[in-house]
Amino acid sequence: MNRRSFLKTSGALGLAAGLPSAAAFAAAVQDKAAGTASPEKSQPHRQTPETLLLKDYRPQSIYKIPVTEIAKAKFPVIDMHSHPYAKTANQIAAWVRNMDEVGIEKTIILTMATGAEFDRIYKQYAVHGERFEMWCGLDFSGYKQPRFASSVVRELKRCRQTGARGVGEIHDKGQGLRSGKSRATGMHPDDARMDAVFEACAEMKLPFSLHVADPIWMYQKMDKTNDGLMNAYSWRLDNQLNIVGLSGMVDILGRTAKRHPHTTFIACHLANLDYDLSRLGTLLDSNPNLYADISARYAETGATPRAAAQFYAKYADRLVYGTDMGFDKPMYRVTFRILETLDEHFYEIDQFDYHWYLNGFGLPNSTLKQVYHDNAAKLLAAREWGARGA
Ligand SMILES: [Zn+2]
Repeated sequence: MNRRSFLKTSGALGLAAGLPSAAAFAAAVQDKAAGTASPEKSQPHRQTPETLLLKDYRPQSIYKIPVTEIAKAKFPVIDMHSHPYAKTANQIAAWVRNMDEVGIEKTIILTMATGAEFDRIYKQYAVHGERFEMWCGLDFSGYKQPRFASSVVRELKRCRQTGARGVGEIHDKGQGLRSGKSRATGMHPDDARMDAVFEACAEMKLPFSLHVADPIWMYQKMDKTNDGLMNAYSWRLDNQLNIVGLSGMVDILGRTAKRHPHTTFIACHLANLDYDLSRLGTLLDSNPNLYADISARYAETGATPRAAAQFYAKYADRLVYGTDMGFDKPMYRVTFRILETLDEHFYEIDQFDYHWYLNGFGLPNSTLKQVYHDNAAKLLAAREWGARGA
């Protein structure tokens, strides 16, 4: 299931109804088999090239070339970017079974929550010990009040005591900071009001998972020239007022990392520089406290496998694995196929929604070990060294 329909069905159907996402997915597949799928899904085979819509385009590869099925990751994996998708004890247990089967040792749950909501999520997942880590959000509701920073830091300390091991995922797509539904319109991470918060994270050894911007084509014209039009239109930002563009947000990320050199930052989704990896390289070069997670940008980089493989080789010690796409086994396996194999020209349109074909990077074992596990393990362990006063 792709990310968008996962979020749609998990909210509307699967999770709300208490079904695990796998069951929701199976139900959708059954619907389709029974011919009750939505009309647009059942239309394409009857369409001519004149009437076929881009969203219905489902090409099938004709090449007789290797197809590698990877049931389990080659090395143990730490997933640094996930969310509390599973809502019940049974769903969480099913998730752990999936993790065992595909080789995920630990999943970082970016709750984006504070207060009672964080405590509730924490309790649910803590049953499984070290298999999950829960990171808390920030409450931006008082961001215009003079005591904003001190009240955020107080709540951060409380979450830390409950068991939060980091902060995230905090978003700024250009309109200001956001943590779940809590927003600070117009306040960006490099704002002086955030200084005390980032410094407290450094002191409490809480790494900070920060999502800036969105893929480039969301900001571009929604016309025939837009390379990622299929996704761009659904997640469009080109029609938003008072928005800092992608380049401006990347500058803000750089300034923020520089301003708080003792805080560990994880830029979500390759800082949305999947289309310009050399700029991401420059950003990593100039900020030793910055890592990038690779979550939910597999299709973007799978289009340029040689550029991606070169980038992974050069920055093997700064990239961490992540998913951000639910907890179905096929989802994990697609990510392994892209990272591990040299398979070419395969489509995963229903997973990622982009209309182009993907290719594997064929990363060597040493790089895979670092990205799957060792970089994250080091980043997480650094908290303990700090706590011992190292
Ligand atoms: Zn996320």
